[in-house]
Amino acid sequence: MLNLPTFDDVSAAAKRLEGHAHRTPVMRSRTADNALGAELFFKCENLQRMGAFKFRGAFNALSKFDERQRRAGVVAFSSGNHAQAIALSASLLGISATIIMPHDAPAAKVAATKGYGGKVVIYDRYTEDREAIGRKLAEEQGLTLIPPYDHPDVIAGQGTAAKELFEEAGALDALFVCLGGGGLLSGSALSARALAPQCKIYGVEPATGNDGQQSFRSGSIVHIDTPKTIADGAQTQHLGNYTFEIIRRDVDDIVTASDEELVDCMRFFASRMKLVVEPTGCLGFAAARGMKAELQGKRVGIIVSGGNVDIDRFAALLAG
Ligand SMILES: *Cc1c(COP(=O)(O)O)cnc(C)c1O
Repeated sequence: MLNLPTFDDVSAAAKRLEGHAHRTPVMRSRTADNALGAELFFKCENLQRMGAFKFRGAFNALSKFDERQRRAGVVAFSSGNHAQAIALSASLLGISATIIMPHDAPAAKVAATKGYGGKVVIYDRYTEDREAIGRKLAEEQGLTLIPPYDHPDVIAGQGTAAKELFEEAGALDALFVCLGGGGLLSGSALSARALAPQCKIYGVEPATGNDGQQSFRSGSIVHIDTPKTIADGAQTQHLGNYTFEIIRRDVDDIVTASDEELVDCMRFFASRMKLVVEPTGCLGFAAARGMKAELQGKRVGIIVSGGNVDIDRFAALLAG
């Protein structure tokens, strides 16, 4: 039996994050409200420290390290936002961080991780197994491995964004959450069930990578090949054991959005709301637009999960 995190763990995480994470704004758009015939509340985690909600889970997990773990350090593997979240949180807490990244990770991401004080270990994506490298480092140097989503402290930390949203917006009828491995969705579900029991909770995946939807419908975790999508933060191959248990218990449905719809949303956020949102961060809004008929007159929360997109890539996607 897994010991699943609860809303009490989310509340404890919120206390640990006070004064360290930004309480990000909840933004409104009359244009979006009119287009959907609903009241929309955008929780802007693209404006979180390091540019995504992942700071919340990483900082919470590292804050709970004991003295031995702090002295030895943390290890993580990621080419994306989790790497930067761990590196920044570790440096704020005076813990050393080792990040295992693929040889073809974008130079900007490697530089950002180093800039936050992380030690970067490069591996060959095609010939080496990053999990084996991580385990070896953990054993040899006593490092603690923090995974990007399937960890109770990470889930509890991610749940603090939705907690803030409900505190500020009040009860909502529906909540849309971007879905990769499910840390953000399961944490958000813990907050929603505690603070707005009637709220419908939807996870949103890229249409080409709907392993979560398949898992939700079949009742067991489905594995897929790395999906082709511009939503690089949701290119996960499967849900986690913790995240799946919470999702199947608390989430109402999992829906999908196409890359084209994501680009449309990026354009809307930039031109109407002056927000730079990465493709993955658009999943929630894209799905809400697709469910316009069901949302008439409803109060709808949308978690905008991150804004880390190379500006040239951003321009190319909008031009394409
Ligand atoms: C990691 C990430 C996600 C997906 O989060 P999970 O907890 O893996 O489901 C969504 N959006 C952004 C911007 C991310 O970095």
